[in-house]
Amino acid sequence: MFAAGIALIFAAAQIDLSQVKDPRDAVPVPWKDPGYNKFLWLQTPNFGPRPAGTIVDTVVIHSTVIPTLERTTAAFLRESSQVSAHFTIGKDGSYIMHLSTFDRAWHAGKSNDAAGRDNVNNYSIGIELVNLNDGKDPYPPEQVQVLKNIINGLKRRFPLTQLVSHEFISIPAGRKSDPKGFPWEKLKDIGLPMYYGENPKNKADGNKAGG
Ligand SMILES: [Zn+2]
Repeated sequence: MFAAGIALIFAAAQIDLSQVKDPRDAVPVPWKDPGYNKFLWLQTPNFGPRPAGTIVDTVVIHSTVIPTLERTTAAFLRESSQVSAHFTIGKDGSYIMHLSTFDRAWHAGKSNDAAGRDNVNNYSIGIELVNLNDGKDPYPPEQVQVLKNIINGLKRRFPLTQLVSHEFISIPAGRKSDPKGFPWEKLKDIGLPMYYGENPKNKADGNKAGG
């Protein structure tokens, strides 16, 4: 114990602080996926406050198009990308948390939900699934299970009323198609209404869009 303490002090003394980067500047090197149902919190700079008094009641499910957890995380760590989501889940059920669910992420863009409420980022939690979004790339059982774990955890914290696809809420309808090919029936037992596919109402509502 004592010897280990000495070793630690000795090692710490050798760290060149000029070489320590802000963790938001880059993904850890070497990158290692955390493993099934485990996560790392790598804080994105791309977020803001939710409007005062907002009740978070919606989960938006996306697919990344970007093929890996590491590269998606790198994109969200880059301020110039101006995009983020609260979570990204890898194919093996590893996941990254990018910001607090109490803050507003930048994942939905111009959007309306089924009730016609705009600016879905204000009242939603965004979850990305690593997937090419080509309709063929599978969503493995491990990835779907961790998605369910996260949503069930969020249900204890927020009065969730719906799960929606990015495709369904996007304005104009057809602007987004993710998560293409996602097996929605596997989320049925969560017990929340689900809205996915294209919402024809958003074709007519284009002018009402919030940013
Ligand atoms: Zn999306």
